[in-house]
Amino acid sequence: MKALALLSGGLDSILALKLVLDQSIEVVALNIILPFVTEKEDYAGTTAKKFGIPLVRVEAGKEYLAIVQNPKHGYGSGMNPCIDCHIYMLREAKKIAKEVGAEFIFTGDVLGERPMSQYKNALKLEETEAGLEGLVLRPLSAKLLPVTVPERNGWVDRNKLLAISGRSRKPQIELAQTFGLQDEYPAPAGGCRLTYKEFASKVRDLFKHTEKVTKRDAMLLQIGRHFRVGTAKIIVGRNEEENTQLLALKRPEAYAFEVPGYGSPIAILEGTTSKEAIEIAAKLTARYSDAEEKSVFVDYWTNKKESIFVTPFDEAEVLRLRI
Ligand code: SF4
Repeated sequence: MKALALLSGGLDSILALKLVLDQSIEVVALNIILPFVTEKEDYAGTTAKKFGIPLVRVEAGKEYLAIVQNPKHGYGSGMNPCIDCHIYMLREAKKIAKEVGAEFIFTGDVLGERPMSQYKNALKLEETEAGLEGLVLRPLSAKLLPVTVPERNGWVDRNKLLAISGRSRKPQIELAQTFGLQDEYPAPAGGCRLTYKEFASKVRDLFKHTEKVTKRDAMLLQIGRHFRVGTAKIIVGRNEEENTQLLALKRPEAYAFEVPGYGSPIAILEGTTSKEAIEIAAKLTARYSDAEEKSVFVDYWTNKKESIFVTPFDEAEVLRLRI
C-alpha cells in the first residue's frame, strides 16, 4: 500500500507523516513550492531524508497565481485564499498520486486549527472540489472526521489515528516530544506572506492594476519598498541584494534610478513613465540615499543615462505614496 503525503515541512505535516509511516505504509512525499511562502530552511527536504522517503517537488506557477488573483472561495484575513490554495494543492497531489501509484493522500490538516480552511465543511469541500472524496486522510484529526476510504478498506487503522482539534498547538508539541521531533520545526503556515497586512496591501494594489499576474510580478512583490503614482509603480531597493534583483527583474523599457557618488538604492519605475513619474521616482531614490544635500542629481536610464536635479521627498510625501 502506497500513500502520498502533502509535506509542507511544518510540524503538523511531519507528525501526520510519522503516524502513517508507523502503520507500515509506503509513503511518497509531495512538497509544493508556493510563490508567497518563505522557508528559512528546506524543512520538507530534511524531513524526507530523515525518514528515508522519496520526495517529489512541484513549483506552483501561473495557474496558482490566477487562483490567488481570483479565488472562488474568497480570502482570509489578508490576501490568503486558503480554501482555494488547499484545493489547488490537493489537485496537484491527485496528479502526482496517480504518477507514483499512491492509493490515497494524507495531509497535516488539523480540524479547526485555522479559521478559514480547516473547519469540517471546508475540509470536505476541499477534497470534493479536488475530485478526491474520501481519499484524503487527516491523521491528526481523523477520529473527528468521517471515515475515509483507506480506513474503511483497512489500509489504515483508524484506532491509531488521532482526534486533535483547535488552535492550541499543545497536543502537537507533546506529540512531537513523544516522537523526539521537538524544537526542530517551524510553526505552521508561519511563512505565508499573503497573511501579512503590509504584503496584502501590495498584492491588492498589484491585482488592481494588473490583469494577469506573472511569476516576475510575484517576485517583485517580495522586493523593496513599493509606491504607486497613478498607473506607474516605483520600487526602491532596501539593500544591495534587492538592488541587484531589481536590475535583473527590470523590464527593458522600465527606468532605473540611482544617486551617483553616494550610497544609493536602485529604484525602478514601471508602467507610465511620464515626466511627473520620473521626477517622483528620482525624489524617492534620493530620499533613501545617503545624500544629505538639499537637492541632488539622480541618474536614470533605460539604455542611455540621463540626470535630473531634485529635492528628496520628506516622510509625509513618502507615506502618501507608499503602498
Ligand atoms: S496560509 Fe497561504 S499557503 Fe497556507 S493555505 Fe492559506 S494561502 Fe495557502
